[in-house]
Order: sequence, then structure tokens, then C-alpha cells
Amino acid sequence: MEHSKLVAFTIKCNKCSRGWSVDKSDFEKTIINCQNPECNNQFTVYEGLRNGLKSYEDFIPNPFLANDMFNGTVDVKIGYTTYFDLPKNIRKTYNIMIMPSGAFLAGAVDITKKGFRIFTSLPDDGDNNLIGKSEKVLVIISAKTDDYNVPWIEMLRYAFEQLRNEEYLTSILFSEIAFEIYTDTMLAEGYKKIGLDEDSISRFLIATDIPIKVNPLMGNLYNIKLSDSATWKKWEKKVLKWRNGIAHGTKVKATEEEAKLVYETVVDSIFYFFEGIDKYMATKCDAKN
Ligand SMILES: [Zn+2]
Repeated sequence: MEHSKLVAFTIKCNKCSRGWSVDKSDFEKTIINCQNPECNNQFTVYEGLRNGLKSYEDFIPNPFLANDMFNGTVDVKIGYTTYFDLPKNIRKTYNIMIMPSGAFLAGAVDITKKGFRIFTSLPDDGDNNLIGKSEKVLVIISAKTDDYNVPWIEMLRYAFEQLRNEEYLTSILFSEIAFEIYTDTMLAEGYKKIGLDEDSISRFLIATDIPIKVNPLMGNLYNIKLSDSATWKKWEKKVLKWRNGIAHGTKVKATEEEAKLVYETVVDSIFYFFEGIDKYMATKCDAKN
């Protein structure tokens, strides 16, 4: 897959927690140096991306599909609503944070592609004399301005949101589906390159079970198998089992630990393949030259 489609992702250092946006050139580096001058940590781009995707405890969650951030100060009147026009080039808004400058509350409602309304109110013990007073709020928007869609990333984003919303069953399902979409996408790309037509690819992928896809098929195309990875046991014994249990109605409850394990195993498995496919492609290029 093209690395340019990952530019909305964050690289994160697991030692000092500093995070920054990934750059296309990072994929050519064998080792990344942490951007924090006080921290000497070094890691691969894949490790950095995995850490970035796993930071769900952060106050501002990683908006990993938002490739742009907008911020600005807006004048509001306490107790009234103010319409905020979103920049025209925004295709999708992922996160809106509104920070009031004084002793009042503020939030966003009626969010559409065009904009949203900022409402302001007083807390229960607020000073009623403040109603109608002019104040300011700081607005921070994470959004996507680029025109591309990567279905597995969209699905992983849903899994992440469900995890944060404590909807553990759906998070497990969405995480594993993200992994299956990623696997199918890479297999389809590989088969297309060797000349198989789209109809055959699609019939073949529908008729094949996921354990076959992640081992012999990925092995044939890219010389990599999930069964050789550190995540294999967790994926086979837990992720796949739970996913099937949920899909067939036998697993009706899930814990936060289970949903986190599934999400993290899926992130690790995707980047295990990612790194392996990149390495395989690099050796193929070397062989050609
Ligand atoms: Zn660091």
C-alpha cells in the first residue's frame, strides 16, 4: 500500500510519550530518532506507528484519520449559540474540542460538513449575571482534508471509538474486521500484480477462510505468515475465537481488557504484515536492479 495514505498517523515514542506526524520519508529510514532532544530513544517507523495507534488513554485521542488540525478563537455570548463555519476544504470532521476562557460551559451541537453551533451555558452554581456577556472560546478541530479512503483504517477508527465509548463487543468485532479488510486488500493487490482478474480475486477471497489467508496465502505472495509472529497465539486463540463467538451469538459480553487485547493484537498484526511486505518489496526491487 502507498505510504502516502498513512500521513494522518502519529508516530509516538514509548519512552517519553512524545508524538508527531509521520512523514513519507520516515519509511525509508531504518531507525527513527525520538524528536524530544532530552530522550535518546530510537525505534522503527512501524513501532512508532503502533505506539501512536495504541495511545487511547490520551486526553486528546489520536485522530488517526484526520490529516489536518484547525484552531482559532471564537467570540461567543454566554447563554446564546454561535454558528461556526468549517473551512471549505474539510471533507470530514473527527474531533471538535471547545475550551471556554472563563467560568462557563461550552460545547458543539448540530455538527455538519458546513459547520456547527457552539452553545454556551452556566454551571449549576454559575453566576447568572454572566448571561449575555461576551466571552471567547478556543476551538480545536481535527479533520480530514485529503480525498482518499482506506477502508481498513476507517474500520480501525470505528473500533477505536467503540473502545473509548466502552462498547466492547462492537469494538472487538470492528477491530478484527479491520484486520480482515487489511489482509484482503493486500492479497487483492498482490494477485492483481501477478495478473489475476478482479472477479476471480473477489470469488477467491470470499471462498477462503481467514486463517488460510493470513498464513499460506500471505506466505505465497509476500513470504510472510502471521503464524511466525509474536501475535499469532493471541490472534488465533482469542481474537478470532471471540470474533466468531460474537458473530454467531455465543459471546454476548466482553470486558475492557478483552477489547483492548483485540485492538492491540490487530494493530500489531497489521504492522507486522506492513513491515514484512515493505521488506519483501525492497528485496524484490534490489533483485531487479
Ligand atoms: Zn522519546
